[in-house]
Amino acid sequence: MISENLHKIQQEIQDSCALVSRQASDVHLVAVTKSVDTSMTQTLLENGVRDCAENRVEQLLSKKQALRNYPDVKWHFIGNLQRRKVKSIINEIDYFHALDSFKLAQEIQKRAEQPINCFVEVNVSQEASKQGISPEEVDSFIQDLASLDKIHVVGLMTMAPIDASSNERHQLFKTLKQLQQRIADLQLTHAPCLDTSMGMSNDFSEAIQEGTTFIRVGTALFQE
Ligand SMILES: *Cc1c(COP(=O)(O)O)cnc(C)c1O
Repeated sequence: MISENLHKIQQEIQDSCALVSRQASDVHLVAVTKSVDTSMTQTLLENGVRDCAENRVEQLLSKKQALRNYPDVKWHFIGNLQRRKVKSIINEIDYFHALDSFKLAQEIQKRAEQPINCFVEVNVSQEASKQGISPEEVDSFIQDLASLDKIHVVGLMTMAPIDASSNERHQLFKTLKQLQQRIADLQLTHAPCLDTSMGMSNDFSEAIQEGTTFIRVGTALFQE
């Protein structure tokens, strides 16, 4: 079941890339394992997945510990991270997808033993309920991070509203891609910003068509 789902997703990644003449190898599939247990996660690893994402600190730490026989797995933290929990998780992850405040960045600066790969979360749709900084703030926010040498901005992250139409999602993803490219053009040492993290089970094809390099897929991997 998992292997079939994975195969289908990989096929859809390829098809989506083909539509816009991209290479499937430029798209990183991050498996969101927040809703499954360690043994399901292990099944994914046995099928070749090497990027796992969690949105809860305790769950990531316990899964990573249980799956320590797979040392080449990259662990991604995709959830809202409370400042008081930074210390326990920040040196255990390879990517943090939800940097959205300078105070959080300062706490990471204080606790990290080496530079941390961060995606700055942007609330492109400007929904009141969503995390993330507004598109207008992205430039100055990223410039401000230059003073924190433990923050390495690899890219920008966003989520589309659940009820967005296909057209609206394309537009959102296009906007994030443009923002990312604008930052990349600045050639900032602390913020190369070459990647985007966007697209989930129901919209990763659209995100790929708009140029994303990381997609975060949960449900589609585990459905019956
Ligand atoms: C849960 C989650 C996902 C995966 O969503 P699916 O619809 O299950 O693919 C991706 N990104 C974030 C931030 C999430 O919390």
